[in-house]
Amino acid sequence: MARYTGPSCKLCRREGTKLFLKGDRCTSGKCAFDHRSTAPGQHGAARKKIGEYGMQMREKQKTRRYYGILENQFRLYYKAAEKKEGMTGENLLVLLERRLDNAVYRMGMASSRKEARQLVLHGHFTLNGKKATIPSIQIKPGDVIAVKESSRENAKLKELAETAASAVKPKWIDFSESTLSAKIVAMPAREDIDFEINEQLIVELYSK
Ligand code: SF4
Repeated sequence: MARYTGPSCKLCRREGTKLFLKGDRCTSGKCAFDHRSTAPGQHGAARKKIGEYGMQMREKQKTRRYYGILENQFRLYYKAAEKKEGMTGENLLVLLERRLDNAVYRMGMASSRKEARQLVLHGHFTLNGKKATIPSIQIKPGDVIAVKESSRENAKLKELAETAASAVKPKWIDFSESTLSAKIVAMPAREDIDFEINEQLIVELYSK
């Protein structure tokens, strides 16, 4: 399964915003963006005028990188969003939020989406009682995501479980600390996404 393996912090500098790709490091004094927020490269610090297309492109790249999605797959999400009823931009964001790896991150059982993806791939979670190893599975209301019984003693998961209860969660997740599980109580909605995204710019880009 293809994924981006380059330096994460460079992506934040490229997008001119913190994308929170490295878990606790992002909120610590070690965040690279807090120390140097200019774009990477020799001319990164130079002020560049950005046109309409550039803005649309940057918004798409920022969103794609925030969710850790590669270009082709992102385009497929967009096509799926177009086919759904309602606003395409909102549909797109909801489809991204409904990924299993995102839900694991949002329930507090991973410090970043990248880590959530790894934990899912390594088989540490179940979905409705069955082992779930596909990070892109779309979750829906009524689903229950849980740490697999045999993974509860895993050192990393034990560490994550200690902070999961206090992590801020969207209202579509009902987390149980005692069972290390989360019930999806509603469909994620646009207003549940607290990261600044102008999805209309992405729609304009793909509508060209
Ligand atoms: Fe971005 Fe800072 Fe996290 Fe690096 S540490 S990924 S620069 S938010």
